[in-house]
Amino acid sequence: MLCLGIEGTAHTFGVGIVDSSGKILSNVSRVYVPSKGGIHPRDAAQFHAANARSVLDGAIKAAKVEISDIDLISFSAGPGLGPCLRTAATAARALASWLDVPIVSVNHCIAHVEIGRLTEGARDPVTLYVSGGNTQVIAFDAGRYRVFGETLDIPVGNCLDVFAREVGLPHPGGPHVERLARRGKKYIQLPYVVKGMDLSFSGLMTDAVRRHRAGGDLRDLCFSLQETAFAALVEVTERAVAHTEKKEVMLTGGVAANSRLRKMLNLMSKEQGAKFYVPPMELCGDQGAMIAWTGILAHKHGVKQRLEDTMVKQRWRTDEVDVPWRESRK
Ligand code: AMP
Ligand code: MG
Repeated sequence: MLCLGIEGTAHTFGVGIVDSSGKILSNVSRVYVPSKGGIHPRDAAQFHAANARSVLDGAIKAAKVEISDIDLISFSAGPGLGPCLRTAATAARALASWLDVPIVSVNHCIAHVEIGRLTEGARDPVTLYVSGGNTQVIAFDAGRYRVFGETLDIPVGNCLDVFAREVGLPHPGGPHVERLARRGKKYIQLPYVVKGMDLSFSGLMTDAVRRHRAGGDLRDLCFSLQETAFAALVEVTERAVAHTEKKEVMLTGGVAANSRLRKMLNLMSKEQGAKFYVPPMELCGDQGAMIAWTGILAHKHGVKQRLEDTMVKQRWRTDEVDVPWRESRK
């Protein structure tokens, strides 16, 4: 069975083709880059609509299949930006009805976890998912993917990006902050906010910007920003690992590119007696293969949808999704 998955929650329009054994036949994406500032949802959606055809053709061609070979369509129904979600959903519905094949809505955050489990062989990880649009600590428990901790305001990737923009670094800011942080020497105290199991990064971001305006050294500030944000992420992940007694930790999302964060999580995992996994970067970011694979899992386990049940859900929470493919197996 072949599933074609469409990703379109935010800046990426992606199409992936995956077979029912988990082989990724193709994974083609195009990323909208705003000329300045953050993502404008309507502009991103227009970008997706303009690129949908060529990304789709590219994925079919790279997979060396015919469109008529596709048995199932899946798409990212949320969480994400409304106009982007609706564009991807429209493409998915059109394809499913034209090909007369089933369609499955996929939760974007769960898809990040599932593609990592597929390719890394992690069976039951506590996952730290950190990107420009999301920050969650996710683990499977009692039939669902539960959110053990999450940001109460901005995602950690957004914290790095906005800080970078405010201090004059290019977008996306994460890699530039990481580069400068390596040359930082002095730790500058910044607001460290963990509330229960949840996180907050907006106070950290504004204080770091304020200190830069007051003449603080940029390298020291990048270093301190990373140390503070990442320590909070690792703290919450560690408590989730201790609570669930899981033996695997996985890191994914665009911020997974950061070697300092990897090092800190790796160390924590060792101390907790857990194995540490990071999927290859092309599978950590947003792409269609993760949507296709999660679509296959859902379809194989009896998830059925009619076209009229494929409304997008901008705030679709990870813990609202039934996960029949994992209920019988831990
Ligand atoms: P995504 O939203 O998954 O596409 O990931 C994009 C986010 O990852 C942006 O916020 C980037 O700044 C961030 N990012 C990319 N590379 C790095 C890095 N080396 N260190 C920290 N953040 C990064
Ligand atoms: Mg993502």
